[in-house]
Amino acid sequence: MNSELKIYNTLTREKEIFKPLNAPHVGMYVCGPTLYSHAHLGNCRTFLSFDVVFRYLKHLGYKVRYVRNITDVGHLESDGDEGEDKIAKRARLEKLEPMEIVQLYAVDFHKVLDDFNLLPPSIEPTASGHIIEQIEMTKKIIANGLAYEVDGTIWFNVEKFAKDYPYTELSGRKLDELLEGTRDNLEGQEEKRGRLDFALWKKAKPEHIMRWPSPWGEGFPGWHIECSAMSSKYLGEQFDIHGGGMDLVPTHHTNEIAQNVACCKKSPAKIWMHTNMLTVNGQKMSKSLGNSFLPEQLFTGSHLLLQRGYSAMVVRFFMLQAHYRSTLDFSNSALQASEKGYQRLMNAMKLIAGLKTSEKSSFKFENVKADIYNALNDDFNTPVVIAGLFEAAGIINSVNDGNASVTAADKEKLQKLFSEIVFDVLGLKEESGAGSDKIDGLMKLIIELRKDVRTKKDFAASDKIRDELLKVGIQVKDGKDGVTWTTN
Ligand code: AMP
Ligand code: ZN
Repeated sequence: MNSELKIYNTLTREKEIFKPLNAPHVGMYVCGPTLYSHAHLGNCRTFLSFDVVFRYLKHLGYKVRYVRNITDVGHLESDGDEGEDKIAKRARLEKLEPMEIVQLYAVDFHKVLDDFNLLPPSIEPTASGHIIEQIEMTKKIIANGLAYEVDGTIWFNVEKFAKDYPYTELSGRKLDELLEGTRDNLEGQEEKRGRLDFALWKKAKPEHIMRWPSPWGEGFPGWHIECSAMSSKYLGEQFDIHGGGMDLVPTHHTNEIAQNVACCKKSPAKIWMHTNMLTVNGQKMSKSLGNSFLPEQLFTGSHLLLQRGYSAMVVRFFMLQAHYRSTLDFSNSALQASEKGYQRLMNAMKLIAGLKTSEKSSFKFENVKADIYNALNDDFNTPVVIAGLFEAAGIINSVNDGNASVTAADKEKLQKLFSEIVFDVLGLKEESGAGSDKIDGLMKLIIELRKDVRTKKDFAASDKIRDELLKVGIQVKDGKDGVTWTTN
């Protein structure tokens, strides 16, 4: 078994053996949401991918400090230095306080992630709660000669930085091309020296609501500086993993590295992990393209793109069936296939405890286990993990049908492996349907009643119960050792 965890590092473009800087402690920072509206399913995919990373690292015995921030100030409409603050704009339109907007969507965000069974991060810091740290970092970058002030706004000097450090290392792009790609004379940006320079601190116009005092007058922080300031505050100047969606590579993460290096001469993270996008008909799911939907709409089926509703665990399973670095295209047929797959795993889970044991196993437990762990160690390859679990489910079903055998020791190991991988690492859980207490209780009662009618030789009634259950997707099997049932 390959026991070393390998992670693909965007920075080196290689899968690297994971060696924490300070084992058993691991520091992981993931860029969190900008809470100016509901998180859509695409956002959830990114956080779900890092939930599996968090869970697996913990499963391996690491003590993980997982920091995922909340952006509640400084994220402008353009994702750059133009436009209105996304949260302030929403607050203005809805006639609410900016922090009322943030609170509204934070409550919703946490509920949605809880529905998907994501573990909460260890720390969830907000940008507005770390203004002092962002000002301090900005001061250091100015002192190191890599940022300058123009009329109350502080700009990061990209071209000067790029003379000494590899500014485009993460994206792999060429500086010249980036320079050519930028537009000249953007409104309100005439004062910056270089076209690629970005704001660390912005002077607040009189109408700007969110503002704080600073050595350069009243203003607010740029979007990128918050992550540099908060990651180094909670994880140190260098930590193990920094993550986010791939769309953050060229600007947000590139600038984050530049800020940390300019401030402290250290690149913040050893490994940069990026998740690929959830797409709809091949197009990135995003609010601005109008092709996004909310988890709530997915659960109830109340969106034009949805034929019907799907449960949170089915959606989680659907997301796990793609590798985090591949795109994942949304479709009803894929979700329906995931529903079947999820049920298959839950049914196998349910059957294990009741399996009859034998002297010998007809399969090699170590092989089953190795397939699953090799996949997890190969850059969290969850689709291959699921394939391994399906194979195990096949064995469980065969033992249950009397076509394969398992020893008591292997049965115990299989049960432990299944529960650790399915529940602890993949973060799936049983929900209504197979495994829920109510359904289990109800099925017990129905099976008892069916037994009664069979004792009275009323086979028509017994068959009717079996056939009607089948119509709602529950299969009853009369085996040598009693009656079992599964859902399909
Ligand atoms: P935002 O709130 O827009 O800053 O996005 C929060 C996180 O969701 C970022 O890490 C984005 O990269 C990620 N994200 C946005 N859209 C998608 C998508 N369609 N698929 C996967 N991740 C996404
Ligand atoms: Zn960030």
